[in-house]
Order: sequence, then structure tokens, then C-alpha cells
Amino acid sequence: MELIEPGKRWAKPIVVIVAVVLIAGLLRAPQPPLTAPPDALREPGAPAPLQGQFKAQVAPAVPPVRVEPAPLDGYQAVVVADQLALYTRAGSYTAEQVQAMAAPIVEALAYVSTRTDMQLAAPVSVVFDHREHCGLDGAAYTQKRIIMLYACPELPPRRAVNIIAHELVHQLAHDHYGPPHLQADVILSEGLATWGAGKYWLGSESDFRSFVQHNYATALLPLDSDYRAIGTIDAMNRLYYQWASLVDFVLETRGRDVFDKLYRSGRGMAPNTADYGGVLGTDLVGLQPEWQVWLNNQP
Ligand SMILES: [Zn+2]
Repeated sequence: MELIEPGKRWAKPIVVIVAVVLIAGLLRAPQPPLTAPPDALREPGAPAPLQGQFKAQVAPAVPPVRVEPAPLDGYQAVVVADQLALYTRAGSYTAEQVQAMAAPIVEALAYVSTRTDMQLAAPVSVVFDHREHCGLDGAAYTQKRIIMLYACPELPPRRAVNIIAHELVHQLAHDHYGPPHLQADVILSEGLATWGAGKYWLGSESDFRSFVQHNYATALLPLDSDYRAIGTIDAMNRLYYQWASLVDFVLETRGRDVFDKLYRSGRGMAPNTADYGGVLGTDLVGLQPEWQVWLNNQP
């Protein structure tokens, strides 16, 4: 088991995360970087029907786009696969490792695209780099169409793929929602990215309602909590999974069109800045007990 013990090994990474958040701000990135959640570290469970999945739709066939990897200062272009260009640099995964990860990343893109019924508008670059402490985290700079993934070669590549699946959903959301994505309520942007990553984050659970019910039900945080204010990786994980289950809840009870309208109603990236009252008829405080009842009513 490779679970991370919050508070022990994360003191230094948190400092780094703060630094990355600042960098992300400078780059006008819409999302803070994602740190590896403990349950994304498990092997994905056997494929299982996913609750709340958007109506099963066959993703339209997208002809492969041949991408010539543009030179990226300091990085080695390793491979172009469909709509993805993969880069790395010394200290992160080797070119051979990245080559071997191309197929799983292409597969992850197809999975999250089908699950969310969203498609890339243009190719994306996945850039492997590393940090001094050899932690694992990622960030999506959706305006630049770059996903950064920080890892050392010793870390199992499947863990990196789990995080990349989440970051790819951020890019899909950018392409699907357009400029409103950059103002999206973090509850919805991180909730959607986590929900969209589905099996890559669910471990042995079949859906996010079950995951939250089995792992966090006795200590739910208020949905509008700001994990940066709480300052622990545990709170971040807890909220990401709670928010993913909230996305599931809204999709199941209100439908995709309403969810999209809610996502587009964001007026800032802070928690609780979408127009819940105007779109859903109840504000987030009113929504929380409704969501908790839904959580307790396992199908
Ligand atoms: Zn994210």
C-alpha cells in the first residue's frame, strides 16, 4: 500500500505546492496543481459500471491529428501520439519510460473524453519534469495547452497516468466551456476533473458516491471549504472526492444541461462562486443536506 500519511511526508510538498500555485497564478492558469491523492495511488479496480455517467454516447470518431512536437526549451520531445505530444527532461521519466506511457495516456484521454462527452479542440502537450523532493503532482495550464507532470523515474508511471487523466479533464473543460472555464467555481472545476477521471481515481470503488460514503461519510467537510485555508493534503483529497460526488449528484438529479449552465455561471475560482441559487433554485448551503441525503441513499 502506498498511502501517503498526511502531515508527515507532506510538510515540504505543501510549501512546493504553494510555490506552484503562485507560478500557476503568474501563468494565469485556472487551476491549482493537483497532488497525488492517496486513492489514485491504488491500482484501478476492475472496470465497473459508473454511476451518473453522462448518457452513454459514442464519442464521434476524431481523425488522428498528426502533431509535430514543437521544440520546448530544456525538454526532449519524445513522442507524438494522436492529439498528444510528450516531453521529458533529465531527472524525470526517461525517454524510454515516456515512450511506454504513450499508449496508457492515449487510452486515458479516450476514457475521460467519452466519460465527459467532451473533446479536445487542439493537441495538448504533456511535459514531464521533476522536483527536488521527488514528489508526484501535476498541473494543467489550459490556455497554453500544457500539462505539467512532476515525478522522478522511480515513481510508478501508472500513478502519473492517474493524475494526467484528471488534468486532461481540465483541458477538455476549457475546450468545452470556453472562457467561462477560467472563472469556474473550484468546486465544479476540480469536482468535474476528479469525476471525469473516474476509474483512475476510484481504486476499488465503482463510483464517487460509494467512495465518499465508504471513506469520508463520518467526517464530511462543508462543500464550500477552501482546502488551501485548511492546509492539509487530507483536506484536499477529501474535498476533491466530495466535489466529484457533488458533480455526480447534480448530473443525476438535474441533468447535464443544468450542470453545464451551473459550470458556466462561475464568477471566480473560489469555492461557492457559481450561481447555485439561480441555476439550481437553492444555494450551496441548501444543497449540502440534499446531497448528503443522496449520499446516504446508495442505489
Ligand atoms: Zn485539478
